Amino acid sequence: MEILSILLEELLGFLGITQVLEILKSGDYSAFRTYDGIASLIYPIIPLLLLLELVVGLIYKKPQIKVYKVNFLIYIFNRFVGRFISIAMVAFCIGLFSAYAPFKTSNTWYWFLYAYVVWEFGHFIYHYLGHKVRLFWCLHSTHHAPEEMNLSVTHAHFFLEAPYADTIRTTVCILAGVQPELLFTVMFIDGTYGAFIHIGENMIKDARFGFLNKLMLTPSHHRVHHARNPLYMDTNFCNLLNIWDKVFGTYQEEQKSVQIEYGITREMDSGNFMDVYFGEIVALAKDVAKAPGITNKFRYLIMPPGWSHTGEHKTAKVVRRAYLKNR
Ligand SMILES: [Zn+2]
Ligand SMILES: [Zn+2]
Repeated sequence: MEILSILLEELLGFLGITQVLEILKSGDYSAFRTYDGIASLIYPIIPLLLLLELVVGLIYKKPQIKVYKVNFLIYIFNRFVGRFISIAMVAFCIGLFSAYAPFKTSNTWYWFLYAYVVWEFGHFIYHYLGHKVRLFWCLHSTHHAPEEMNLSVTHAHFFLEAPYADTIRTTVCILAGVQPELLFTVMFIDGTYGAFIHIGENMIKDARFGFLNKLMLTPSHHRVHHARNPLYMDTNFCNLLNIWDKVFGTYQEEQKSVQIEYGITREMDSGNFMDVYFGEIVALAKDVAKAPGITNKFRYLIMPPGWSHTGEHKTAKVVRRAYLKNR
Protein backbone atom coordinates (compact mmCIF):
# COMPACT_ATOMS: atom_id res chain seq x y z
CA MET A 1 0.00 0.00 0.00
CA GLU A 2 2.97 2.24 0.76
CA ILE A 3 3.97 2.20 -2.91
CA LEU A 4 0.46 3.24 -3.94
CA SER A 5 0.47 6.27 -1.66
CA ILE A 6 3.92 7.28 -2.97
CA LEU A 7 2.65 6.97 -6.55
CA LEU A 8 -0.46 9.00 -5.71
CA GLU A 9 1.70 11.70 -4.10
CA GLU A 10 3.96 11.76 -7.19
CA LEU A 11 0.93 12.04 -9.48
CA LEU A 12 -0.55 14.92 -7.46
CA GLY A 13 2.89 16.56 -7.47
CA PHE A 14 3.19 16.22 -11.24
CA LEU A 15 -0.28 17.69 -11.72
CA GLY A 16 0.67 20.55 -9.37
CA ILE A 17 -2.53 20.24 -7.36
CA THR A 18 -1.09 19.39 -3.91
CA GLN A 19 -1.41 23.00 -2.72
CA VAL A 20 -4.95 23.46 -4.06
CA LEU A 21 -6.06 20.28 -2.27
CA GLU A 22 -4.50 21.52 0.98
CA ILE A 23 -6.37 24.84 0.77
CA LEU A 24 -9.62 23.03 -0.06
CA LYS A 25 -9.08 20.66 2.87
CA SER A 26 -8.38 23.55 5.27
CA GLY A 27 -11.74 25.14 4.38
CA ASP A 28 -10.13 28.60 4.36
CA TYR A 29 -10.96 29.57 0.76
CA SER A 30 -9.80 33.15 1.33
CA ALA A 31 -6.28 31.70 0.86
CA PHE A 32 -7.01 31.61 -2.90
CA ARG A 33 -6.83 35.40 -2.89
CA THR A 34 -3.22 35.42 -1.66
CA TYR A 35 -0.20 35.23 -4.00
CA ASP A 36 0.43 31.58 -3.04
CA GLY A 37 -3.26 30.79 -3.52
CA ILE A 38 -3.31 32.31 -7.01
CA ALA A 39 -0.06 30.54 -7.90
CA SER A 40 -1.54 27.24 -6.69
CA LEU A 41 -4.37 27.67 -9.21
CA ILE A 42 -1.99 28.51 -12.06
CA TYR A 43 0.42 25.61 -11.41
CA PRO A 44 -1.90 22.83 -12.65
CA ILE A 45 -2.68 24.56 -15.98
CA ILE A 46 0.41 23.30 -17.84
CA PRO A 47 0.22 19.65 -16.59
CA LEU A 48 -3.50 19.54 -17.46
CA LEU A 49 -2.80 21.05 -20.89
CA LEU A 50 -0.10 18.39 -21.35
CA LEU A 51 -2.60 15.59 -20.66
CA LEU A 52 -5.19 17.23 -22.92
CA GLU A 53 -2.56 17.53 -25.67
CA LEU A 54 -1.74 13.84 -25.27
CA VAL A 55 -5.44 12.94 -25.70
CA VAL A 56 -5.88 15.30 -28.67
CA GLY A 57 -2.82 13.68 -30.29
CA LEU A 58 -4.42 10.25 -29.89
CA ILE A 59 -7.70 11.50 -31.37
CA TYR A 60 -5.93 13.10 -34.34
CA LYS A 61 -3.90 9.90 -34.73
CA LYS A 62 -0.67 11.90 -34.35
CA PRO A 63 0.29 10.39 -31.00
CA GLN A 64 4.01 11.38 -30.92
CA ILE A 65 4.66 8.27 -28.77
CA LYS A 66 8.46 8.48 -29.05
CA VAL A 67 8.62 12.02 -27.60
CA TYR A 68 6.23 11.28 -24.73
CA LYS A 69 7.98 8.02 -23.84
CA VAL A 70 11.50 9.46 -23.63
CA ASN A 71 10.37 12.64 -21.85
CA PHE A 72 8.44 10.57 -19.32
CA LEU A 73 11.61 8.58 -18.58
CA ILE A 74 13.58 11.83 -18.25
CA TYR A 75 10.97 13.19 -15.83
CA ILE A 76 11.23 10.06 -13.65
CA PHE A 77 15.05 10.07 -13.79
CA ASN A 78 15.26 13.77 -12.86
CA ARG A 79 12.91 13.21 -9.92
CA PHE A 80 15.48 10.83 -8.45
CA VAL A 81 18.59 12.91 -9.06
CA GLY A 82 19.21 16.56 -8.55
CA ARG A 83 15.80 17.36 -7.14
CA PHE A 84 17.01 19.99 -4.74
CA ILE A 85 20.27 21.13 -6.31
CA SER A 86 18.59 23.97 -8.20
CA ILE A 87 16.78 25.39 -5.15
CA ALA A 88 20.03 25.20 -3.18
CA MET A 89 21.94 27.07 -5.91
CA VAL A 90 19.34 29.88 -5.99
CA ALA A 91 19.57 30.31 -2.20
CA PHE A 92 23.37 30.16 -2.37
CA CYS A 93 23.60 32.86 -5.07
CA ILE A 94 21.16 35.15 -3.23
CA GLY A 95 23.24 34.82 -0.06
CA LEU A 96 26.55 35.27 -1.85
CA PHE A 97 25.79 38.21 -4.17
CA SER A 98 23.18 40.32 -2.35
CA ALA A 99 25.86 42.42 -0.67
CA TYR A 100 27.35 43.45 -4.05
CA ALA A 101 24.17 44.96 -5.54
CA PRO A 102 24.63 48.72 -6.03
CA PHE A 103 20.93 49.35 -5.18
CA LYS A 104 17.82 47.38 -4.25
CA THR A 105 14.47 47.26 -6.05
CA SER A 106 11.15 47.50 -4.23
CA ASN A 107 7.75 45.92 -4.85
CA THR A 108 6.39 48.26 -7.53
CA TRP A 109 5.19 47.58 -11.07
CA TYR A 110 8.10 49.38 -12.71
CA TRP A 111 10.66 47.46 -10.68
CA PHE A 112 8.78 44.30 -11.66
CA LEU A 113 9.27 45.20 -15.34
CA TYR A 114 12.91 45.95 -14.63
CA ALA A 115 13.29 42.57 -12.87
CA TYR A 116 11.73 40.80 -15.85
CA VAL A 117 14.04 42.46 -18.37
CA VAL A 118 17.08 41.65 -16.19
CA TRP A 119 15.91 38.05 -15.74
CA GLU A 120 15.52 37.71 -19.52
CA PHE A 121 19.08 38.98 -19.90
CA GLY A 122 20.30 36.29 -17.47
CA HIS A 123 18.23 33.74 -19.36
CA PHE A 124 19.72 34.89 -22.67
CA ILE A 125 23.27 34.47 -21.32
CA TYR A 126 22.62 30.98 -19.93
CA HIS A 127 20.77 29.84 -23.04
CA TYR A 128 23.24 31.36 -25.51
CA LEU A 129 26.16 29.66 -23.74
CA GLY A 130 24.12 26.44 -23.72
CA HIS A 131 24.23 26.54 -27.52
CA LYS A 132 27.67 28.04 -28.11
CA VAL A 133 29.92 26.25 -25.60
CA ARG A 134 30.16 22.52 -26.33
CA LEU A 135 30.42 21.52 -22.65
CA PHE A 136 27.22 23.41 -21.83
CA TRP A 137 25.59 22.02 -24.99
CA CYS A 138 26.03 18.58 -23.39
CA LEU A 139 23.66 19.76 -20.65
CA HIS A 140 21.21 21.51 -22.99
CA SER A 141 21.04 19.10 -25.95
CA THR A 142 18.65 16.76 -24.09
CA HIS A 143 16.05 19.51 -24.44
CA HIS A 144 16.59 19.73 -28.20
CA ALA A 145 16.55 16.00 -28.97
CA PRO A 146 12.74 15.56 -29.47
CA GLU A 147 11.81 15.40 -33.16
CA GLU A 148 8.25 16.53 -32.54
CA MET A 149 6.91 19.30 -30.31
CA ASN A 150 4.50 18.92 -27.41
CA LEU A 151 4.27 20.04 -23.78
CA SER A 152 6.23 17.02 -22.52
CA VAL A 153 9.36 18.63 -24.06
CA THR A 154 9.17 21.05 -21.09
CA HIS A 155 10.44 18.17 -18.94
CA ALA A 156 13.24 17.13 -21.30
CA HIS A 157 16.28 18.47 -19.45
CA PHE A 158 19.58 17.05 -18.24
CA PHE A 159 19.41 17.16 -14.44
CA LEU A 160 22.39 19.52 -14.09
CA GLU A 161 20.94 22.09 -16.47
CA ALA A 162 18.50 23.71 -14.02
CA PRO A 163 21.15 24.39 -11.35
CA TYR A 164 23.50 25.78 -14.03
CA ALA A 165 20.74 27.98 -15.53
CA ASP A 166 19.48 29.19 -12.17
CA THR A 167 22.98 30.03 -10.97
CA ILE A 168 23.50 32.40 -13.93
CA ARG A 169 19.97 33.88 -13.93
CA THR A 170 19.88 34.39 -10.15
CA THR A 171 23.37 35.87 -10.04
CA VAL A 172 22.57 38.38 -12.81
CA CYS A 173 19.32 39.41 -11.08
CA ILE A 174 20.79 39.73 -7.59
CA LEU A 175 23.82 41.71 -8.82
CA ALA A 176 21.40 44.04 -10.65
CA GLY A 177 19.57 44.72 -7.38
CA VAL A 178 16.47 42.56 -7.97
CA GLN A 179 15.10 41.67 -4.55
CA PRO A 180 14.39 37.96 -3.92
CA GLU A 181 10.61 38.47 -3.67
CA LEU A 182 10.46 39.95 -7.18
CA LEU A 183 12.90 37.30 -8.40
CA PHE A 184 10.60 34.47 -7.27
CA THR A 185 7.55 36.11 -8.87
CA VAL A 186 9.41 36.47 -12.17
CA MET A 187 10.71 32.88 -11.88
CA PHE A 188 7.17 31.60 -11.44
CA ILE A 189 5.75 33.50 -14.43
CA ASP A 190 8.77 32.60 -16.54
CA GLY A 191 8.52 28.91 -15.57
CA THR A 192 4.82 28.75 -16.45
CA TYR A 193 5.15 30.66 -19.72
CA GLY A 194 8.39 28.83 -20.54
CA ALA A 195 6.44 25.57 -20.32
CA PHE A 196 3.53 26.89 -22.39
CA ILE A 197 5.72 27.86 -25.37
CA HIS A 198 6.28 24.11 -25.94
CA ILE A 199 2.64 23.60 -26.87
CA GLY A 200 2.56 21.47 -30.01
CA GLU A 201 0.84 21.64 -33.40
CA ASN A 202 -1.72 19.07 -32.22
CA MET A 203 -3.12 21.75 -29.90
CA ILE A 204 -2.32 24.99 -31.73
CA LYS A 205 -1.40 24.74 -35.40
CA ASP A 206 -0.35 28.32 -36.04
CA ALA A 207 1.10 29.69 -32.80
CA ARG A 208 2.08 33.13 -34.04
CA PHE A 209 -0.85 34.73 -32.21
CA GLY A 210 -1.28 37.61 -34.69
CA PHE A 211 0.16 40.95 -33.63
CA LEU A 212 1.52 39.42 -30.39
CA ASN A 213 4.21 37.76 -32.51
CA LYS A 214 5.70 41.23 -33.05
CA LEU A 215 5.55 42.19 -29.36
CA MET A 216 6.66 39.09 -27.47
CA LEU A 217 8.02 35.59 -27.82
CA THR A 218 5.28 33.17 -28.93
CA PRO A 219 5.32 29.35 -29.18
CA SER A 220 6.00 29.93 -32.89
CA HIS A 221 9.32 31.60 -32.03
CA HIS A 222 10.24 28.77 -29.69
CA ARG A 223 9.36 26.17 -32.34
CA VAL A 224 11.86 27.97 -34.55
CA HIS A 225 14.40 27.71 -31.72
CA HIS A 226 13.88 23.93 -31.57
CA ALA A 227 14.40 23.52 -35.32
CA ARG A 228 17.51 22.12 -36.97
CA ASN A 229 16.92 23.90 -40.30
CA PRO A 230 19.98 26.00 -41.17
CA LEU A 231 17.89 29.18 -41.19
CA TYR A 232 16.48 28.54 -37.72
CA MET A 233 19.40 27.03 -35.79
CA ASP A 234 20.65 29.01 -32.77
CA THR A 235 17.99 31.74 -32.88
CA ASN A 236 15.32 32.99 -30.41
CA PHE A 237 17.08 32.36 -27.09
CA CYS A 238 14.64 34.42 -25.01
CA ASN A 239 11.59 33.18 -23.15
CA LEU A 240 8.79 35.77 -22.99
CA LEU A 241 10.19 39.18 -23.87
CA ASN A 242 12.44 38.74 -26.88
CA ILE A 243 14.16 42.11 -26.63
CA TRP A 244 17.60 40.57 -26.13
CA ASP A 245 17.29 38.47 -29.30
CA LYS A 246 16.49 41.69 -31.13
CA VAL A 247 19.41 43.52 -29.45
CA PHE A 248 21.96 40.75 -30.16
CA GLY A 249 20.71 39.83 -33.66
CA THR A 250 19.47 36.31 -32.89
CA TYR A 251 15.81 37.02 -33.65
CA GLN A 252 14.16 34.83 -36.30
CA GLU A 253 10.50 34.56 -37.29
CA GLU A 254 8.88 31.37 -38.54
CA GLN A 255 8.75 31.43 -42.36
CA LYS A 256 5.84 29.80 -44.15
CA SER A 257 8.23 28.57 -46.86
CA VAL A 258 10.63 26.87 -44.42
CA GLN A 259 8.84 24.08 -42.57
CA ILE A 260 10.25 23.37 -39.13
CA GLU A 261 12.24 20.16 -38.66
CA TYR A 262 12.62 19.52 -34.95
CA GLY A 263 15.70 17.96 -33.37
CA ILE A 264 19.49 18.22 -33.47
CA THR A 265 21.87 17.73 -36.36
CA ARG A 266 23.89 14.86 -34.82
CA GLU A 267 22.79 11.43 -36.00
CA MET A 268 20.98 9.97 -33.04
CA ASP A 269 18.08 7.86 -31.85
CA SER A 270 15.61 10.30 -30.31
CA GLY A 271 13.59 7.36 -28.94
CA ASN A 272 16.53 6.10 -26.87
CA PHE A 273 16.77 7.58 -23.37
CA MET A 274 20.53 6.94 -23.08
CA ASP A 275 21.26 8.63 -26.40
CA VAL A 276 19.00 11.61 -25.62
CA TYR A 277 20.43 12.06 -22.13
CA PHE A 278 24.11 11.18 -22.49
CA GLY A 279 24.72 11.08 -26.26
CA GLU A 280 26.37 14.51 -26.53
CA ILE A 281 28.70 13.74 -23.61
CA VAL A 282 29.84 10.56 -25.38
CA ALA A 283 30.30 12.44 -28.68
CA LEU A 284 32.35 15.14 -26.93
CA ALA A 285 34.49 12.55 -25.13
CA LYS A 286 35.25 10.89 -28.49
CA ASP A 287 36.23 14.20 -30.11
CA VAL A 288 38.46 15.11 -27.15
CA ALA A 289 40.11 11.67 -27.22
CA LYS A 290 41.01 11.88 -30.91
CA ALA A 291 42.08 15.55 -30.92
CA PRO A 292 45.87 16.06 -31.20
CA GLY A 293 47.50 18.02 -28.35
CA ILE A 294 46.18 19.43 -25.11
CA THR A 295 45.13 22.80 -26.65
CA ASN A 296 42.89 21.14 -29.22
CA LYS A 297 41.40 18.88 -26.58
CA PHE A 298 40.56 21.91 -24.43
CA ARG A 299 39.14 23.78 -27.42
CA TYR A 300 36.60 21.03 -28.01
CA LEU A 301 35.20 21.75 -24.53
CA ILE A 302 34.74 25.49 -24.99
CA MET A 303 34.20 25.99 -28.74
CA PRO A 304 30.69 25.82 -30.26
CA PRO A 305 29.23 22.43 -31.26
CA GLY A 306 30.41 21.59 -34.78
CA TRP A 307 33.87 23.14 -34.27
CA SER A 308 36.65 20.91 -35.58
CA HIS A 309 40.43 20.97 -35.01
CA THR A 310 40.83 20.20 -38.73
CA GLY A 311 39.24 23.53 -39.63
CA GLU A 312 36.22 21.88 -41.26
CA HIS A 313 33.73 23.52 -38.95
CA LYS A 314 30.05 22.62 -39.07
CA THR A 315 28.90 25.14 -36.46
CA ALA A 316 25.43 26.71 -36.69
CA LYS A 317 27.05 29.98 -37.78
CA VAL A 318 28.91 28.34 -40.70
CA VAL A 319 25.89 26.28 -41.79
CA ARG A 320 23.52 29.26 -41.62
CA ARG A 321 25.90 31.52 -43.53
CA ALA A 322 26.28 28.92 -46.30
CA TYR A 323 22.51 28.51 -46.47
CA LEU A 324 21.83 32.25 -46.73
CA LYS A 325 24.53 32.60 -49.43
CA ASN A 326 23.08 29.84 -51.62
CA ARG A 327 19.44 30.76 -51.17
ZN1 LIG B 1 17.94 25.91 -26.62
ZN1 LIG C 1 12.39 24.58 -25.40
